[in-house]
Amino acid sequence: AIAQQEQVPLPELGWDDEIPYSVRHAVDLAVREHVGKLTGAKNDAGKTFIHPYFSNYVEIRDGRPVTWVTLQRCLPDRMVTERIEYVFEKDAKGEYTLAEERKVNEVDRSLPLKIEKLELARPIKPFSFQHDQLSIEMTSGTYVTRYVGDHPVALEIAGKGHVRLTPPDDYQEQFWKRYLDGPVLDADIVGVEIEFHHLDRSFLELIGWTPPGGEVRPFEFSGEDVAAPEKLVERYRELTEDSDEIAWTPRGYRELQLPQYKGTWSIAFETTDGREILYGYSPVEPQEIGVYTVEKGISLRKRTRERTRLVAVYPAPETRALPVDERDRRESLRFVVPNKINARFDIDGDKFIATASLDLIVAEPTDSLLFSIGGNPTVRYVRDLETDAQLPFVPYKNPFSEIFGFEETVNTYRVAFPEMLQPGTVLRIELSYNSPKLVYKFDEGFWRISRQGLIPFSRGLGDPAMMSFVLRTKAKYEHVSFGEKAREEVAGDYRYTEWRSPRGVNFPTMIIGQFYEPITAEVDGVTIEGYATRVRNDQLSSLRVPQKGMKQEVEKARSAIEGYHKIFGVHYPFTTLRVVSVPFQGYAQSPTSILFMDENLLLPEGVIGQYLDPRKWESITAHEAAHQWWGGLVSNTDFFHYWFVESLADLSAALYLEAVKPGSIEVAINDWRDMTLRSEHVCSIKDDILYGGEIGKYRAQPLRYTKGPYVLLMLGEHFGYDKLRGFMQRLLELHRGDLVTTTDLQRVAEQVVGVQLDWYWDQWIRGNGVPTIGYELGSPRREGDKWVLDYRFTQKVVRGDEVLPGKVFRLVIPIHLTAPDGSTKVVRVWLKEAEKAGRLELDFEPRGTPRIDPDNRMLFRRERL
Ligand SMILES: [Zn+2]
Repeated sequence: AIAQQEQVPLPELGWDDEIPYSVRHAVDLAVREHVGKLTGAKNDAGKTFIHPYFSNYVEIRDGRPVTWVTLQRCLPDRMVTERIEYVFEKDAKGEYTLAEERKVNEVDRSLPLKIEKLELARPIKPFSFQHDQLSIEMTSGTYVTRYVGDHPVALEIAGKGHVRLTPPDDYQEQFWKRYLDGPVLDADIVGVEIEFHHLDRSFLELIGWTPPGGEVRPFEFSGEDVAAPEKLVERYRELTEDSDEIAWTPRGYRELQLPQYKGTWSIAFETTDGREILYGYSPVEPQEIGVYTVEKGISLRKRTRERTRLVAVYPAPETRALPVDERDRRESLRFVVPNKINARFDIDGDKFIATASLDLIVAEPTDSLLFSIGGNPTVRYVRDLETDAQLPFVPYKNPFSEIFGFEETVNTYRVAFPEMLQPGTVLRIELSYNSPKLVYKFDEGFWRISRQGLIPFSRGLGDPAMMSFVLRTKAKYEHVSFGEKAREEVAGDYRYTEWRSPRGVNFPTMIIGQFYEPITAEVDGVTIEGYATRVRNDQLSSLRVPQKGMKQEVEKARSAIEGYHKIFGVHYPFTTLRVVSVPFQGYAQSPTSILFMDENLLLPEGVIGQYLDPRKWESITAHEAAHQWWGGLVSNTDFFHYWFVESLADLSAALYLEAVKPGSIEVAINDWRDMTLRSEHVCSIKDDILYGGEIGKYRAQPLRYTKGPYVLLMLGEHFGYDKLRGFMQRLLELHRGDLVTTTDLQRVAEQVVGVQLDWYWDQWIRGNGVPTIGYELGSPRREGDKWVLDYRFTQKVVRGDEVLPGKVFRLVIPIHLTAPDGSTKVVRVWLKEAEKAGRLELDFEPRGTPRIDPDNRMLFRRERL
């Protein structure tokens, strides 16, 4: 418990090895033997119907070992999930025998999936259906119904019809052209599948649904030869033989959806030319409408699998009508919000036991919690700390877990509560799991913990108010983790450390290793500690001077922190920044208060230059250090607003490097520009997380690293570079510790520059296209005591290969002039029309040829008229 952890000496916390392996092993064997008898039972159909989930966890109570097992009983009408407690006693022969058995909890909400037999297929009432840009017309058809328990939840229809699906706007149209082969989908269809919420009867009414008039079977293909339309038979076979139904294990049972999801539905249709397209609507998604193509693939198990490929996601019309701030604020439903997280990690060999206590506040009515953990873990227990009750939990598998075992990625578990939890309820849960595959053990001297699921609730749910971790390993390893190191103790064979942060941290990370003596530096009260990992023998080892390289990295980080203090005026939020070199990492990353990087980055510049563009190498540490502010101090509300975390880190790095090494910003600008123009700029910066990297003739870097920093830098070109810096400062002051949206950024920028900026955000961040500016400059001539320069500008906005008709940007065109004393004067002309002519009045005589934005501060192409 939390209070306890504050007082108890670290080695005295409840570590599991107080229970000898021999006891745990003997109890495990005994419980498996006992449960084996239960699970051997068969139902009327001769099938196994009780499935166990062992937790490999033992506690000692009054001198007797206690363990728990989750059992799932698949009854004909429902699945009961039970948590059973087994208490053992050592008999005279020294063996463990079952002394007590008690059901501690049960949940019976999971109902069997069923489908009507093909012989029950009946005709639809012809119908038409319209939603936003989708219209479907079914003139005839035959259907069967799918059920969860006795609730109809899907209709399978084979018949004749027509579908028309148009994009909601010109921006989305591009994705239609790319993935649906044209600006409009207009096709005859042979089949429709409609899935809907069990409380929603509207689709049943739409097709004139009638009860089946016969027995409905579980989800299994009977193989019987039934006269039904070919398409329906085909679909029926796919569903019953090859179903991708995501369900609680065992397959074939599913819970009814929570009431919040009422109104969620999807329609998949198959066109006469064999294409399958899915249109989904969910009022609880941040962007409610999704269009996908469905592709069939063959899995390792030779089953036909459906794979969906994103065409587009976009808001529903009612959301499109909202002000942009509200549109951005809409987020995926959060059932719970974390308050505090405390965790204990016991890491040794093949053991990675995490025991986390979580204070959660319920935000929406819910009767279950999903959590995800990497590395295919064994969840040992989930306990309600208020009542000390064991909660039943089961893995929530998907088809990929079956195919791949999902060892390297995330498995999801579902904790079921006996009743619906109401908003405002405070949940205190302790969760324990063993997931040794989360440990990346590069060699004996270096382990890193994968960030996947380390703290299972942290990322998806927002930042908790505080976090603390205790970490234990063999004493020969040292630990590097987040926030402040509160305590360190070595007792017996073990080293214990405690880490604390007054708030949630992004990607809480733990690194365990054998390091050279740390290299330290200090700036503004912040200590930079550099941990160079003692490395393996590899081909580069003769070239390595790890400490020398680390010294260089620590200095880079120190200098960057100092630079950001000046640029942002907002202090680094911890007293220590720890820089760690990592073998085989391939990249650098900066979770809160840690900066870890591939050890190859410690190589001398001459050597690394063979592998990496030295100009990039220069900026890596600066970019990562900037994440302590962007991503660390101010972070994004969700996935759709992640872009600025990278864009501001990259921009900050460029500004800092320019300050310490004038001229270096040109390198960054040219790189951003080149990559942005290569990407074909089909999607917006904001959407590049959905489409980025995939689109374009070249695999350009995602726009958040290229166009993002570029267009934010351009705020300086439009409004002054002091305002750009003011924007970053204000953002940090105002939103320190917040999760913000794209429009929150806009509002801060508006405050600072004093101008409404919808146009700027729309054209550069929420929209796409790059202008081409045509220009014509006259020769300077004298008029009275002034010099006059005539100009004419045109613009067209280009996206990919097309010019967007009628579209114009509002932007400045910097004209560089040389004064008689040789200095450069920049005059900026605002352009917001397709064509503009005018004259500049100068109080000096310009020398040489005036130049349009020679240092590419603006993202436009230029052509002489
Ligand atoms: Zn980054």
